Amino acid sequence: MIYLDFNATTPVDEQVLEAMLPFLRGEFGNASSDHAAGGRAAIAVDAARNQLAGLLGCSAGEVVFTSGATEANNLALKGLFDACPGDRRRVLVSATEHKAVLGAAESIASKGAEIEILPVDKYGTIELSALAELLGPDVLVVSVMAANNETGTLNPISRIVSMATECGAFVHTDATQWIGRLPVDVRDWGVDLLSLSAHKFYGPKGVGALYVRRRTPLAPLIHGGEQERGMRSGTLNVPGIVGLGEATALAAEMVSADAERLAVLRDRLHGQLARRLDGVVLNGHPTERLPNTVNLRFEGADADAVMVNMPEVAVSSGSACTSAVPAPSHVLVAMGLDHDAADESLRFSLGRPTTEEEIEVAVDKVVRAVEAVRSAASTPDSAPTMANLSRGLR
Ligand code: PMP
Repeated sequence: MIYLDFNATTPVDEQVLEAMLPFLRGEFGNASSDHAAGGRAAIAVDAARNQLAGLLGCSAGEVVFTSGATEANNLALKGLFDACPGDRRRVLVSATEHKAVLGAAESIASKGAEIEILPVDKYGTIELSALAELLGPDVLVVSVMAANNETGTLNPISRIVSMATECGAFVHTDATQWIGRLPVDVRDWGVDLLSLSAHKFYGPKGVGALYVRRRTPLAPLIHGGEQERGMRSGTLNVPGIVGLGEATALAAEMVSADAERLAVLRDRLHGQLARRLDGVVLNGHPTERLPNTVNLRFEGADADAVMVNMPEVAVSSGSACTSAVPAPSHVLVAMGLDHDAADESLRFSLGRPTTEEEIEVAVDKVVRAVEAVRSAASTPDSAPTMANLSRGLR
């Protein structure tokens, strides 16, 4: 298999696994226990907290470990809303947010929050003029993702922060796709809250974090043993947190080299596909984009059918988290694509293990698959139905 779906998830790095193993074996202590085994677990958790704080450019006391970015996004929006009773009831979220932000926003709407959607332009970048119009003294928080998971388009976070803070609103950013792919400095950005997830940068699944800038009000979602300074009760996932720490250390070391190498491979993939096929259209910003991501529309070729025709290549149509739902990508629709165009779009996301040879082979397979789907579509009698195609795969 040629795996080009690193925005969905990444494999655990060997070095990360090695760091975790002792905590899955003999070092099984509870980080809250008072004995020596608990102490060693607590020290490992502290080390991971410091590693992550180092990558983010914050202090260790500003990190709250969670079960991933879905929980971090929920904690950010619900926690802020619950902690801030008052006149600020409006919450601004961008149209291309992950469902973990959109769903959390929807849930606080039932408690009295007024959710307003910030539009994006044709590249998927937030419209700053719309933000300026919507901002006001009754806005509690603006939530805009740093990088989009489907297109890789980046948002101007510092600019958003300076506009929002002028009227006293908090800023949350879902940086799940940014972390490990581009350098980050939360103080430079000036955000109050930032979400991330280990499994997007070669750490394990089921662990992530929320950066909570000092003095940001936040009510917990989960009550109990008062771990994480009361903001996230529950026995700490020590192996997962150690893995997150190690993945963070690797990211700090490799982020720039990875970004440079992957951007070259990604552009080669895009360039060769555009050369060999007609009707290849880029979805997303041509330059302000994650170095590993390219989302392409192949005109006249249904993306799911293309995928069925190249089972050896793992890519994604729409985001993996929502692909159980047979609806066009809300991200592409927000960028102005019609449903057919959205359904003809595939996301390729490269990662640290991706090689030049894999890109060459993937190009051949994609070209053949797109041609097969297009020619089947032009001879309707012989066109396999989507239902048949999917049945063949299972
Ligand atoms: N936000 C973004 C932008 C994502 O890409 C993802 C993962 N698809 C999430 C949030 C959810 O992260 P997790 O899997 O850690 O819950």
